[in-house]
Amino acid sequence: MSETKRLKIGEGKISGYLSIFLAIVSLGFVICAYFPDVFTTKDFRDIYNPQIVKWSILAVLILSFIFAFTSLILSKKKRYGFISTIIIAATILLGSALPEGTGIQDKAFTIGLDWLLIDVLVSAIVFIPIELFLPKRSNQSKFHSEWRTDLVYFIVSHLFIQMIGVIVQFPAMTMFKNIGLEGFQNTIQSIPFLPQLFVALLVSDLFQYTAHYVFHKVPYLWRFHAVHHSTKNLDWLAGSRTHFFDLVVVRAMSFIPIYVCGFDSSVFFTYIVIVSFQAVLAHANTRINFGFLKYVFVTPQYHHWHHSDDPKAYDKNFAIHFPFIDMIFGTYYPMGNDWPEGTGLGDVKYPKGFARQFVYPFVKNPQEHHNLKDPSER
Ligand SMILES: [Zn+2]
Ligand SMILES: [Zn+2]
Repeated sequence: MSETKRLKIGEGKISGYLSIFLAIVSLGFVICAYFPDVFTTKDFRDIYNPQIVKWSILAVLILSFIFAFTSLILSKKKRYGFISTIIIAATILLGSALPEGTGIQDKAFTIGLDWLLIDVLVSAIVFIPIELFLPKRSNQSKFHSEWRTDLVYFIVSHLFIQMIGVIVQFPAMTMFKNIGLEGFQNTIQSIPFLPQLFVALLVSDLFQYTAHYVFHKVPYLWRFHAVHHSTKNLDWLAGSRTHFFDLVVVRAMSFIPIYVCGFDSSVFFTYIVIVSFQAVLAHANTRINFGFLKYVFVTPQYHHWHHSDDPKAYDKNFAIHFPFIDMIFGTYYPMGNDWPEGTGLGDVKYPKGFARQFVYPFVKNPQEHHNLKDPSER
């Protein structure tokens, strides 16, 4: 498949895409409002303020309309502007016909459409400008040949957030329930906010490091983790390309210390925000190198080396929060100011597309076609 050209500013395409994107997001929010018991995440419902939600949807719609207008003026092809205008009109019609709230019935299984829309909107606002104006690989197109696959991963992991949460929490809940942790947890909660947050990030990163290391070193598990490493075009969206099995096992491991320590809820939520943000940032296609902070926190440069297709950087930089963990365990890659030439699995051929990548590791070992005959060399 050929690579599409990188988007140029001033052609009306960026504004066209943004306009359609924002129109679809606001239509999605209206769908959430029609069927809140199915499409909203139970834990989020208490936080929603109807007035703020209403004005936010309106703001997104207005922004979408401004971009549609810009695209209609700039672009020779008028279709982007027209498509979004139709979606905007549908959203306004549906939104104004919305019946008054009739109460929400709790369902055992919900679809996290609200979480998907909020996260895609916030991530797009933060990361699209960063990748557009401060890219690392300026010739890498946003719409490279596999961006749709990555988008499917992003969508699936968000829509099934509630189900994933239940599976992830299960081992910690069953193994460590009723073992009298109250005293220990009270001590943890008495630690001031910042040091407590540091402990949360540190212990979860140590567990993440262990799980991640094992996924690299055990050949059968590497089959699954290879999906995450198969991308040749690292960007903020590519970070969500993770096999479902890999995702739940590593998250379940990282959740054990969080559950056992019973951190204060303010620490827990800050931890969740940092984890979500840093995981996306680490994969972003940006040359921002964060000065001396890159020795303190995991940055894009640090994690891009983890994805390097150069054998000398294989099995390095496992940490997702603190580089010193890799330094202590001897898996730190001395990167200096360099960036990897390329990312991916080298000459290992991995199938493309979400469904094929889901099935593949259960039945085949991608390493079989690799020039390294001994998988332990990875
Ligand atoms: Zn890895
Ligand atoms: Zn990664």
